[in-house]
Amino acid sequence: MFATVVKNDLVSKRIEKKLKDRLSIGETNTPKIVFCIGGDGTILRAIHKYSDILDDIIIFGIHTGHLGFFMDFNEKNLDNMIDSVINESFEVHGFNIAEAELKTKNKTFTYFALNEFQLIKVDRVIVLDVYIDDKKFETFRGTGLCFSTPGGSTGMNRSLGGAIVDPDLHSIQLTELASINSNAYRTIGSSLILGRDRTLHLKPEAPIDVDFCYDHLTMNIRGMIEFSCSLSDRKVRIAYNKNNPFFERVKQAFL
Ligand code: NAP
Ligand code: MN
Repeated sequence: MFATVVKNDLVSKRIEKKLKDRLSIGETNTPKIVFCIGGDGTILRAIHKYSDILDDIIIFGIHTGHLGFFMDFNEKNLDNMIDSVINESFEVHGFNIAEAELKTKNKTFTYFALNEFQLIKVDRVIVLDVYIDDKKFETFRGTGLCFSTPGGSTGMNRSLGGAIVDPDLHSIQLTELASINSNAYRTIGSSLILGRDRTLHLKPEAPIDVDFCYDHLTMNIRGMIEFSCSLSDRKVRIAYNKNNPFFERVKQAFL
């Protein structure tokens, strides 16, 4: 009982056809296995599409572009992957998601992310008090803040100068986007990697309008009064290829 989420390109569609031709099990709206064909972004689309049944699905990522961080299979090892599905002999790695609560005067929204959350304002500086658990840490002034999971650390977080984190090191990383540091304003300046039991809170002085990004999705929030997030115990389960360990992938991608 499977479903596919496929990037809109010819190679990905060709592989989808090959896969469906070989699989005898049927397609469904409530899959146990979701084949994602494309890039890491395709996995993000799949987990948000199947957010209601996230705990019940196993993702198989087949990448058709360059290397994917969550995607361990490709056209070359497709047949082996299909055999492992049929024989139920695959191995699965759980990637912890992050969960967030965002409050406006009248509403509380909850979100999850496999990669990261970002609060951004491009046209004006945002001012946010940053709390680690219940203690005020700093007042941030700048363009935004990024909260990345270990699995997401190789994405936007890395482009912001954050550290690459071993996916098994349960933590959440806070990275700045263009903080203003002067005699008047000061932030820590480096990224912070916090243990899984920590919760980060952001409080503006008065309600603010911000762009809120969770993975590939963006919402414009009007009148945010508080934001908090932490690493969750919930995991996205992704099948992996034993021959391609995480730091080999890091090497192949970035060195
Ligand atoms: P996109 O704008 O199409 O592509 C963003 C790039 O980041 C793609 O090359 C994507 O890989 C890659 N990526 C996604 N998750 C990654 C991860 N965990 N580790 C390493 N690379 C990763 O956006 P998208 O494909 O929908 O993915 C959204 C994600 O992209 C966001 O969650 C954010 O992490 C990342 N992003 C990064 C930047 C930046 O670095 N300046 C800007 C915007 C978004 P694929 O090509 O395999 O999809
Ligand atoms: Mn993409």
